[in-house]
Amino acid sequence: MSDTRLFSLLKTHFGFDRFMPLQEEIVRHVLTGKDAVVLMPTGGGKSLCYQLPALVFDGITLVVSPLIALMKDQVDGLTANGIAAVVINSTLKSDEAARIRDALRRGEVKLLYVAPERLALEGFRKFLLGLKISCIAVDEAHCISQWGHDFRPDYLNLKNLRKDFPTVGVVALTATATQRVRTDIVEHLHLKEPRIFLSSFNRPNLHYDIRPKDGAFAELVQLLRMPLHKDRPAIVYCFSRKETEDIAAKLSAKGFTAEAYHAGLDAGVRHDIQDRFIRDETPIIAATVAFGMGIDKPDVRLVVHYALPASIEGYYQETGRAGRDGLPASCVLFYSYADKFKQDFFIQKIEDDAERKRAAEKLNRIVAFCESPMCRRKYLLEYFGERHVQESCGGCDRCVDTREEFDADEIGRLVLECVARTGGRFGGQYITDILRGSENDRICRNKHDRLPVHGKGRAFTDAQLREVIAALIGKRMLRKTESEYPVIEMTEYGRDFLDGDEHLMLPLLRTAAKAEPKKHSAGKETGTKLQGTWHAGTVKMPAAVHADKTKTPFMQTETMGGASEALFEELRKLRKQLADVRGVPPFVIFADTSLREMARRLPQDDASFLAITGVGQQKLKWFGPAFMKKIREVQSRR
Ligand code: ADP
Ligand code: ZN
Repeated sequence: MSDTRLFSLLKTHFGFDRFMPLQEEIVRHVLTGKDAVVLMPTGGGKSLCYQLPALVFDGITLVVSPLIALMKDQVDGLTANGIAAVVINSTLKSDEAARIRDALRRGEVKLLYVAPERLALEGFRKFLLGLKISCIAVDEAHCISQWGHDFRPDYLNLKNLRKDFPTVGVVALTATATQRVRTDIVEHLHLKEPRIFLSSFNRPNLHYDIRPKDGAFAELVQLLRMPLHKDRPAIVYCFSRKETEDIAAKLSAKGFTAEAYHAGLDAGVRHDIQDRFIRDETPIIAATVAFGMGIDKPDVRLVVHYALPASIEGYYQETGRAGRDGLPASCVLFYSYADKFKQDFFIQKIEDDAERKRAAEKLNRIVAFCESPMCRRKYLLEYFGERHVQESCGGCDRCVDTREEFDADEIGRLVLECVARTGGRFGGQYITDILRGSENDRICRNKHDRLPVHGKGRAFTDAQLREVIAALIGKRMLRKTESEYPVIEMTEYGRDFLDGDEHLMLPLLRTAAKAEPKKHSAGKETGTKLQGTWHAGTVKMPAAVHADKTKTPFMQTETMGGASEALFEELRKLRKQLADVRGVPPFVIFADTSLREMARRLPQDDASFLAITGVGQQKLKWFGPAFMKKIREVQSRR
């Protein structure tokens, strides 16, 4: 295929001047009719990889996609780009379905979207066999793997596709990149020597921030009021149905427009809530993880995890829903170790042994991620198998940390001592329990209530001690094992430090203080180190241990200056009106990136309007006049 033809299709139909990384290679490969697996992060531009080839193929491109809402948005988007696309699903009326089937038989359709369960129906399989299928695209292909975060048994129906269409090329696409999932995709879909396209999973426009959970609601309110997020779409992931409702109610009481979403709601109600979010009517959704899978909304500016996610895969997927349009967006997780137990409770109820182990392992991984001192981005990317990731990204709480340090010599030594004395065989919570003076069964059984360090860390809260442990891991004095039940071990350096007289400073803690709950013996406030043992009295809390949380540096908003910002808002309103008239989501009309470009460049004729990214021939014809008129109006008012 000539370059001119390819680029002309790209501009005419999609309104783009260039490909995003890997897109061109993938498109060219798909056009050869060979199999492929495409692993790209959300927002990487996967759809174009089969939508553009679909324009070139004689026959139909069959697209398998998991959710009706998702398929409908895709079809609306394609239609707005002047591309013949249809979806067949159970909600169609019979005459409508008949009309679509006729159009497919006559070869008038380029893309046919179906859900996987339909492929199990004999009648539908026969119907497909009567069509000219040129290419098969399997979207969200990780759904076929139990190792993904979203296994769907219906995806196993896709095995039939290879049988029914042995010579048609299959392209499987996903934003989940673990090796296991990849292997499952290739195996279950019976792909033939597929070429694997693996792009970086870095999402450079996302800012990752993991904060201690205390005072989370006040911080949430603060986040929602920041310029980058204010009045913009945001998702707050909660642990339980009840929590979604509580948060939505509390936010509403503060004057925000927020709704709760969870699987316990009626399907119709859920559909309406999702619809109001997609149509820019409800900006904030407090949801369980049931929310988001069917949502391609590109302008989500903030994703909050109000509770610990169940896995890194899930966290990456959910945060991935922020900033699909490539503009800056924030991901904030409120972390508390106690949340791990809530998840554990459900994991213990899983009956299947293998599945339960898998879930426990995943939970340990996300805890390790939250507590790791490493750059968040580096951790995530390495988790997904990327190599040579730079040490520091400049876009996460670990990298943009300007906290001062406090004198942590006593508390640090106390923690190290505790790990040394218990032989490096216990987890962080157990160490914390000893230091806080707990007399639980396990501690008494192990006689650890008799250790000299027992109860010496009472001045610190659980969360603070855990933060100190995490910081010591960061200093490479301790290490956390990667086993199913991770334990905290001493490193060589930690041992040397404990024996030597180096002085320890640590970054100010983020976890707030609470008064020491237990009384301690009068007189000696400070433990004195004597031949490696701790004497009576507790370690005193140094005067300054806390960072000022309001000072956390945060990604700046994309500001364009007052005039263009105001015009951008006007264009958003117009987009909403046009979308409502057509019964489609606003982003089907134009992405924020296109509106921002219009507000900057003020196009006033067809040629300059067409030069805007995301404007192809169809959109120029349908929407060009209205947007240019609006720009003229707003300009003349100035
Ligand atoms: P994914 O399915 O990988 O999450 P999408 O296919 O939804 O990604 O694309 C993400 C965003 O990038 C969409 O808004 C899409 O219009 C835009 N996009 C895709 N390809 C290009 C391109 N070549 N140039 C500019 N924007 C693009
Ligand atoms: Zn970083």
